Amino acid sequence: MFWKCPLTDERYVTQRAWEGAVLDGCPFHPEGGCGLERLGSYRRVEPPGAQIPRWWCPKQRQSISLLPSFLAARLRGTLADVERVVAMVEAAGGVSAAVDAVHPPDADKPVGFVGALRSIRRRVRAVRAALIAVVTLLPERFAGVSPTLAAFREVLGGEAVLVRLRELVQRHLGALPAPLGFRARAGG
Ligand SMILES: [Zn+2]
Repeated sequence: MFWKCPLTDERYVTQRAWEGAVLDGCPFHPEGGCGLERLGSYRRVEPPGAQIPRWWCPKQRQSISLLPSFLAARLRGTLADVERVVAMVEAAGGVSAAVDAVHPPDADKPVGFVGALRSIRRRVRAVRAALIAVVTLLPERFAGVSPTLAAFREVLGGEAVLVRLRELVQRHLGALPAPLGFRARAGG
């Protein structure tokens, strides 16, 4: 489940917004009466200090997390972080060419070359799969658009493509792959 959280990622952390999060109803039992209960929250690695509120449905025997809409699903960080990395790869013309720009060797916490490649490839693949899925889901809007951020930025007019797409496709998030939606991807 996504939460249309109006805060930025910094304010989400400083205001501990997860403590006040409200789940309107159980996604499995919208009619209610299933005994939905708050299950506390769990910690995300990024952004540092962020926690994700969680509920438990005893009837479905499944937990429900409420991910604030600026955060990527199944990848570290925010959708803006993911978009920044993939945009750098597109600008550099390839993953290898983008490694030093994305993970500077003199960074505070340097990432080895192989680890950096793997992490960047994962983001590039995930975003491409998500964009392809968006074209399929919303052909009236995106038919013929190639699955790159550059092409989508042109169609939408500006950056923050992933954040805006998540709003456009919110009814389909269960069917969309990460980082936009929640669908698990084989081999992902
Ligand atoms: Zn329920």
